[in-house]
Amino acid sequence: MKKLSVIVPCYNEEESIPYFYAEVTQIADKMMELEFEYLFINDGSKDKTLEVLRSLAKKDSHVRYLSFSRNFGKEAAMYAGLKECKGDYVAIMDADLQDPPSLLPKMYEAIKDGYDCAGTRRVTRKGEPKIRSFFAHAFYKIMNKISKTELVDGARDYRMMTRQMVDAILSMSEYNRFSKGIFGWVGFETKWFSYENQKRVAGKTKWSFWKLFKYSIEGIIDFSTAPLAITFLVGILFCLFAIVFIIVRTLLFGDATSGWPSLVCIIFFVSGIQLCCTGIMGQYLSRTYLETKKRPIYIVKETDEKTKRYQR
Ligand code: UDP
Ligand code: MG
Repeated sequence: MKKLSVIVPCYNEEESIPYFYAEVTQIADKMMELEFEYLFINDGSKDKTLEVLRSLAKKDSHVRYLSFSRNFGKEAAMYAGLKECKGDYVAIMDADLQDPPSLLPKMYEAIKDGYDCAGTRRVTRKGEPKIRSFFAHAFYKIMNKISKTELVDGARDYRMMTRQMVDAILSMSEYNRFSKGIFGWVGFETKWFSYENQKRVAGKTKWSFWKLFKYSIEGIIDFSTAPLAITFLVGILFCLFAIVFIIVRTLLFGDATSGWPSLVCIIFFVSGIQLCCTGIMGQYLSRTYLETKKRPIYIVKETDEKTKRYQR
């Protein structure tokens, strides 16, 4: 019998987990040909998530959990799940039921039809602030222009994959993880399923606008070097401007600039651009710095098997 691992990153989800478990097990009972393994990752929750997971694992032998020593973020939790799960097929789902479990049978059908991956995307962003949707769309547009890795607008982390694809993802052991990019980068054939945005079953979202903004900048830096090329182009443009506009103009018209304000303005403008470019380079450098440290992506404090400490 083939096994399907369901990976669930959880951060302060004590209220959502019981609903999630109830709904997914209902679907699982209908998918007779698969054995389910639930792997919950407690990402340093401050509420009773760990207690909820402990009692679930006691009750149901298909439930496993890993508990981190602190909050490492959803990216780290997903990586840990992929690394520790044992299934022939692997699905990643949020704990808040925003990823409808009713899609699981259809996703499995796609995999059986020969796809390597069944991905999901939201067609609407109903219930989300307008400004947030605007920036989200803009992000995908920019990203697809400047990066060779294809990103699908509205794609969720909710997906089902074959073991082969999971192993490919695990072979990318980078510290700065941007999964939306990683899923695209490894390739493989994906069938997309669309659904309307769902409300959280309980609890609150952990993503503020500012957090999302930082996440998108990370995505750009991790999957494109275009900003570096742009700084180079801006440099060239400014040199050309200096030669053509200022020197040629002075030669032709003998116009020794009398304006002090314009001069100061130019100095400030150009030094601003320079600082900006140095900043962009700094972003890449800091990422290289973090990668070379080879820190573990997550640290497990407790698992269902026995409390053990290990890394990566
Ligand atoms: N999550 C996590 N670590 C974090 C933040 C979130 O494991 O630091 C989990 C969270 O418990 C949920 C999923 O990631 O299962 C998605 O988070 P959330 O629902 O807050 O994001 P949204 O759906 O609003 O994008
Ligand atoms: Mg959510």
